[in-house]
Parts: sequence; C-alpha cells; structure tokens
Amino acid sequence: MKQSSTKMLILGAGVTGLAAGWVSGLPVYEAEEAPGGICSSYYLRPGNKTRLHSPPDDGEAYRFEVGGGHWIFGGDALILQFIESLTPLKSYDRRSSVYFPDRGMFVPYPLQNNLKYLDPEIIEKALREMAGAAHNHRAQTMAEWLEANFGRTLYDLFFGPFHELYTAGLWKSIAPQDAYKSPVNLSLAIEGAFNHSRPVGYNTRFVYPAEGLNALTQRIASRSDIRYGKRVAQIDARRREVFFADGSGARYEQLLSTLPLNRMMDLTGLSVEAASGPSPSVLVINLGAHRGPTCPEDHWVYVPHSNCGFHRVGFYSNVDASFLPASARKARERVSIYVEKAFAEGQRPSSSEVSELSQHVVEQLQQWGWIAEVETIDPTWIDVAYTWSRPGSNWKQLALQTLEKQGIYPVGRYARWVFQGIADSIRDGLLAGAAASNAAYREITVSAS
Ligand SMILES: Cc1cc2nc3c(=O)[nH]c(=O)nc-3n(C[C@H](O)[C@H](O)[C@H](O)COP(=O)(O)OP(=O)(O)OC[C@H]3O[C@@H](n4cnc5c(N)ncnc54)[C@H](O)[C@@H]3O)c2cc1C
Repeated sequence: MKQSSTKMLILGAGVTGLAAGWVSGLPVYEAEEAPGGICSSYYLRPGNKTRLHSPPDDGEAYRFEVGGGHWIFGGDALILQFIESLTPLKSYDRRSSVYFPDRGMFVPYPLQNNLKYLDPEIIEKALREMAGAAHNHRAQTMAEWLEANFGRTLYDLFFGPFHELYTAGLWKSIAPQDAYKSPVNLSLAIEGAFNHSRPVGYNTRFVYPAEGLNALTQRIASRSDIRYGKRVAQIDARRREVFFADGSGARYEQLLSTLPLNRMMDLTGLSVEAASGPSPSVLVINLGAHRGPTCPEDHWVYVPHSNCGFHRVGFYSNVDASFLPASARKARERVSIYVEKAFAEGQRPSSSEVSELSQHVVEQLQQWGWIAEVETIDPTWIDVAYTWSRPGSNWKQLALQTLEKQGIYPVGRYARWVFQGIADSIRDGLLAGAAASNAAYREITVSAS
C-alpha cells in the first residue's frame, strides 16, 4: 500500500474543509472528484443527463445544486468580505410562504406572524392559545415545544404535519432545536393578525454568488491542495493512519475532520456510552420545467401536505434567472425547482423508488399548476442532512471528546453536529485551519531549534 506521511490532514472538501485547506495549505482528502460537498452547483442541458461542473459556453443549461438551493444567510461581515473577494455576490430579500394545498392558499412565512390570511375563528383561537402558552419552557421534544409555543390550533394546521415530514417522523422524539426557524413573538403575531407583518427570522436577506456557488468553491479549491477520489474507508485512531477506499493510506499526527460526527465514530470504530443523534437524509429532486399558470413567485414554499411527503419546494429561478438556460431567462416561461423529501436514517429508496417518487412530485406540482411540461429531472441524495439530538442525550459531547482525545478535531456543521449555514461553516474552517497551521508551524520551529 502506498503511504503518504503528513503531520496534519484535513478530511472532506465541502466548504468547511476547503476553507481550512485554503488558509493552512494542508492537504485535503475528498471522496468525490469535485469540491464543495453539499454546496455544489451543477449544470444540466434540457433532455441530457450528464452533469456539468461548469456552465456550457452557450449557457443553454439549467443550474441546480446538489443539496437544493443554498443561499448564504447571516455570517460575520469579515467572512462575507472573504467570500466576496473570491466571487461577486448578489443580495436578495427573502420571499417565502406556507402553502395549504386543500385551499390552494399561500400564507407568507412565518405563518404565526401572518394570521390575517386565516379564517377569523382560527385567528382568535391561535392568538388565545399563543398568549396562554408562550411561557411554557418544559417541553422535552420538538413536538411539545411547537405545541407549547404556538398552541394546538396552529400545531394541527401546520407545525405538526410540516415537522413530521421535515424530521422524517422524528419530531415527537427529538429535542427542540433551531428555535429561531420558528420565531415566537406574541406582539408580532398580534400585529400580523390585523395589520401588515414585518420580515423576521434568520434569513430575511441573503446573498448568492453571481456566477453560482461553484464559482466560490472552485476558486477556493484552485488555491488549495485537494486530493480527490480519496474516500476514507477506515481510520486506525491508535496507529494514526487513514485508509482510503482506493487502497492507499496516510499517516497523521492530527486530523481535522469535516465528515459527519456519526460517520467519524463509525470510521474510527470508537464508541461512547450513548446512542448517536438521529440524522435523517434528504432526497432533493431538481427539476427544469415550463412554468405553470399558478407557479408562485416565492423563493421557497413550506408544504405541510403533499402526495408523496415532500416538505419544501424551492424555486431557484425565482431567486435569480441565471438558474435557467440562457435563452429562457428573459421570457420567464420556464422554472428551475428543487423539491426536498426527508427519509429516516438507513431508509434510502432504491433507484426505481426514486423514479416513482420523482413522477409523483411532477404530478403533484402539475396538479397545483406550478409547472407544465418537464424538461429535465435529476434527483440527488444527501446522506446526513439534518443533525438532531435525543432529549437529555450527551452523545454529541462524548463523541467530540473521544475523537479529540485521539488527535481528531471535528470542524463545521456536520462534524460538530450543529445547525449552521455556509458562512458559519467557512468561518469555522478558516479558524480551524489557521489554528492548525499555526500549531504545525510552532512544531517545525521548535523541532528545528
Ligand atoms: C437540505 C439542506 C439545505 C441547506 N440549505 C442551506 C442554505 O440555504 N444556506 C446555507 O448557508 N446552508 C444550508 N445548508 C447547510 C449547508 O449545507 C452546510 O452548512 C454546509 O454544506 C456544511 O459544509 P461542510 O463542508 O461542513 O459539509 P459537507 O458539505 O457535507 O462536506 C463534507 C465533505 O466530506 C466529503 N466526505 C464525506 N464522507 C467522506 C469520506 N468517507 N471520505 C472522504 N471525504 C468524505 C463529502 O464528499 C463532502 O465534500 C443546507 C443543508 C441541507 C442538508
């Protein structure tokens, strides 16, 4: 077996590993043949199944993303400046809704601050329940937290059915998390029940690279030492060796890992006295189609009920026409869409099931009048998409400590089992890479002196 020997290695060339590799100059080992991980754009010509990593010269392709629409929200000013130094950014004001298919009704997000769209008796019940329940902090599970904060009426109408789909059935057994996605504010709810509501939440404004997300990841990668096609198959934490699926290996003294925490525990064979946090997967169905007569103008829409259990539909081309083939950008008669459906861990559908689901999705969107004829359809699979915890579980802390004791430092969204977006993942990668290269530098100077 061919062995390479470097003191510090980085695993994974998603945005976190790319940032760490860029700032440190350390080698990054990546399973795929391209950078970006979940944050990768690709291009498909209508009627052609070959994924292109760059736009074709004539521009006649839909742009899709592996993980569905990835909009850059939040982020420190310095990180946004770093991103902008690599690729120009465009800025957008969020347009997003909840869709109730049985009534064909859209209610702007967040539902609880836009009650005036609902029937008067629902408004009255919802406000009364929210006023009475808002201070209950004893909720153990996400389902309890949602009901405690929004009341039974809104729970039955939206929060229950939506979170059942979004969490792949886990909402009654996982701890509440990411409360800022469902902001609770009684005075804003009252205001929105009678008057105009103001935009709230973590992503009211977002940015996106004018040349697509790939422009960002490819530019970072081009200045970094990435070793592609290196899928980690096993790690001997005691001997400090990584073994790759291609038969090669590498020795290390310390590892920066951006791989999901549960997968790292499996790869190292290390264990802790707690069950790992549940991590549903997501099937993303990317679609290029002719626009239907009632296609919304939203950037994305939350769906509590659908024929095959998808929970969100995003409209790339409602954010920016550059997601459409060049000749279709002016007329806006076509639309570029992503549809997300969550699956419990280990429940990956077969390729024939994915084809069947894709067909159901198309039928549903056509029935709602959102699309007409489909030009291209391309599903992708995110193995570890969400990172939940069981109430009271200390699995995450134990797993992180166990790895760190072995010289393996988890970094970023999936490695540290924390919900965060692209900008914060880049920040973590830059920080960890800078710290790692500084430590490596000190070691070199100390051993040389
Ligand atoms: C459905 C969905 C929608 C999202 N939407 C947004 C959004 O709109 N805005 C936003 O800011 N964030 C969004 N996020 C979050 C965003 O995707 C993450 O913050 C970001 O991708 C984290 O990057 P990462 O590099 O840490 O992880 P990853 O992108 O997962 O990178 C890990 C890398 O490791 C590689 N790898 C995995 N296993 C191995 C192995 N065994 N050997 C070698 N390499 C391996 C992978 O190929 C990958 O390149 C979304 C996430 C999901 C799931």
